[in-house]
Amino acid sequence: MGLYDGIKDVAKVVQKADNIELYQKLIDLSSQALDMQNKINNLAEENKRLKQKEDIINKILRHNETYITIKEDKVPIFYCSCCWDTQNKLVQLIAHEEGDYICNICNNRGYYDKEKYREYIDNMQNDNNIYI
Ligand SMILES: [Zn+2]
Repeated sequence: MGLYDGIKDVAKVVQKADNIELYQKLIDLSSQALDMQNKINNLAEENKRLKQKEDIINKILRHNETYITIKEDKVPIFYCSCCWDTQNKLVQLIAHEEGDYICNICNNRGYYDKEKYREYIDNMQNDNNIYI
């Protein structure tokens, strides 16, 4: 029997006893019990979210740049460390083949491969020099 059904059953018995003071106390206690049930439900939901967060925290790999990866990913996906640190959201970064990345949510930018990015810039400069 659930809390609400139990309260209804007791209310029927108290109503038959025709005791207004007792009935008022039952209403007050019922209200408190339902408030406590709501708090329990909210805490259970919060506990579930915290466990999910902790599960992810244990799988996160930090890097020198502002991105994170998940240890168990066979092909690493780059996630925004700023979005994770401020909002606990895993937001996939847009990783460019040139070696840099950007977050579409917070505009976090950086380099997952600085060497690759330098080569890209060097090649761009060389290409520009050819046409000058
Ligand atoms: Zn972000």
